[in-house]
Parts: sequence; structure tokens; C-alpha cells
Amino acid sequence: MTERALVTGGAGFIGSHLTEALLDRGWEAHVIDDLSTGSIDNIAHLKGRRTFSYTIDTVMNRPLMAELVDRADTVFHLAAAVGVRLIVEEPVRTIETNIKATELVLELASKKNKTVLIASTSEVYGKRNGGKFLEDDDVVLGPTSRSRWCYAASKMIDEFLALAYARELGLPVAVLRIFNTIGPRQTGQYGMVVPRFVMQALSGEPITVYGNGMQRRSFTWVGDVIDAMIAVVRHSGARGEVFNVGHTKDVTIRDLAKIVKELTASESEIVFVPFEEAYAPGFEDIPQRVPDISKLAELIGYRPTLDLPEMLEHIIVDCRAKLAGRVPV
Ligand code: UDP
Repeated sequence: MTERALVTGGAGFIGSHLTEALLDRGWEAHVIDDLSTGSIDNIAHLKGRRTFSYTIDTVMNRPLMAELVDRADTVFHLAAAVGVRLIVEEPVRTIETNIKATELVLELASKKNKTVLIASTSEVYGKRNGGKFLEDDDVVLGPTSRSRWCYAASKMIDEFLALAYARELGLPVAVLRIFNTIGPRQTGQYGMVVPRFVMQALSGEPITVYGNGMQRRSFTWVGDVIDAMIAVVRHSGARGEVFNVGHTKDVTIRDLAKIVKELTASESEIVFVPFEEAYAPGFEDIPQRVPDISKLAELIGYRPTLDLPEMLEHIIVDCRAKLAGRVPV
């Protein structure tokens, strides 16, 4: 029997890749997206496929969501406020979207005992410095006066809720904490560093490193994250559990800028922009963020397949096509 998926946020960067992979693997997939940060262009190439359908609406539309959840076997809940810039600028939208939507998805899925995957984020680890982040580590967040932390706090509530539904009501739900993910179709519009650097390098604009550039991130190929999502919902051992998904090799943002400049053979200058100027006064960045992935490796044999230069090569091809007007920006 064909498996049926509902992908919330399916017109977003990760959601659109997930939807395509599900269709390729014989699933039926329905996308709901309000196009707030997603784009219809991300799913335009799927419109002709028989097992694909979509609704442009908010996941807060209760009667609609009740119907869509009912029609699915598995709900991949990816709809959320994303991107550090958006989060700092629009904290009300961030908190409300993240918490209300997840509450609704879990409540509706629980009524019909549907399988659910909640997409969480490495932001929940807060600002701890050094070492690989383990799922059960303690968390240190900044104060409520710094709006960045509302993202982590709202996603933690989502996680608490998901785990509560699993424990108290037996809902088959798993949580993935997604670390920095990159790939074609990601936009730099909401602050994500890799598409920003690649676009800046290709258009000969300054490459804007925030702070001193010594902060470190580990970047993961979107295809690896998607494979993990599909494997996790299929695995009964994942229920009621939280898993990191990411890459274990990290890089400083300063080196990332140099690598992008080199791979694109760009003449762009690398410039340093203070955090307060880039985001907001009092902005706190995270010095380092690397996952421990052994829990997911044990469950599904997860292993990242691409390293940074290979990922960048693919992204550069995609961004060149965008700039040439072959695909929409
Ligand atoms: N960053 C940067 N220049 C940019 C955009 C981001 O130096 O134009 C930095 C940002 O301050 C952070 C890192 O790159 O240290 C990753 O930023 P992103 O927003 O992609 O992800 P996150 O902060 O959530 O890890």
C-alpha cells in the first residue's frame, strides 16, 4: 500500500527536498505551506507528479489541518519560523508559529494515532561552547531580553510537547535536532551563511563575515538530513526519542569565506561586520556547534555522505543558475 505523507512547510528548503525524495520513493505527498519563508518555485517542478498535491495555507487552519492529517499516515512537521535574521526581527511570529503549529499537529495526529516527525534544531543547545553536543546534554540559553533565544525556547517547548505526547498518550513521534543544513534551493534571504557567501562571491560583492569569523559551524548536506528523516519515521525504535542530525566536521566562518572565494574564483573582498550591525544590539552568536551523531548512527546507520567542498560545488552550480536566471532566486 502506498504510504501517504503530509509535509508541513513543504515549500521550504528542506521540506521541498523531503517531498521530492518521498515521491521518488513511492510515497504520496501532500504539502501545506503558507509561503511565508518557503516559495512556490521550490515545488513547481513537482506539480506534474501524480502522487503530489499541495495547499497554500497556514498550518494554523485547524479544520483544514484536521482533514490533511486524517488523510496522511505520517506527518513531517517542518513548518516553522526559520533563519536567525527573521527570528531576531519577528519574535512574535517566531514564538506563535513554532508553538501553536506544533501543538495543533500533535493534537490532531494523536486523535488518529498518526506517525509524526518533529523537526527541531541545534539552536536548542543554546550557547554552550566546545565539545560535541549530545542529545541529553544540559542546555544554556541567554536571557529573554535577547530575542534570539525565543527560537530555542519555542523549539524546546515543541520537543517537550512531542515527548509528552509519546509518553502520556503513546503517540508515535520522533524529534530530529537538525544542525546547519545546506544544499540547492536554500536562500540567503533569512540570514543563512552559505547561500549568502556563495551569492556574494559570484556577484563580486563583499563577503560579509560577522564578528571575527572564529565561530565554528558544521554543515550537512540536505540529502543526508532527508534520508535520516525518512529512516527515522520508519523505525519503531525512534518513537519518543530525540536525535541529532548533522555533520561532525566543523569549520570557522572565516575559513568558510576563504573556501567559497577560492571555489568560485571570486575577486570579492572578505569584510568583517560587527554582530550588532548585522543583527541587533546585544546579539549573542554561538561560538561553536558540532553534533554527536552516535545515537542516530546506531539507530539507522546514519553517516554524512558529503564533505564541505563537495557540498559547496553543488551549491555554486545552483547559485550560478539562479544568477543566470535559469532558476528563480
Ligand atoms: N554569518 C556570517 N555572515 C553572514 C551570515 C551569517 O558571518 O552573512 C555567520 C553567523 O553569524 C553565524 C554563522 O555564520 O556565526 C552561521 O549563520 P547561520 O545564520 O547560517 O546559522 P546559525 O547562526 O543558525 O548557525
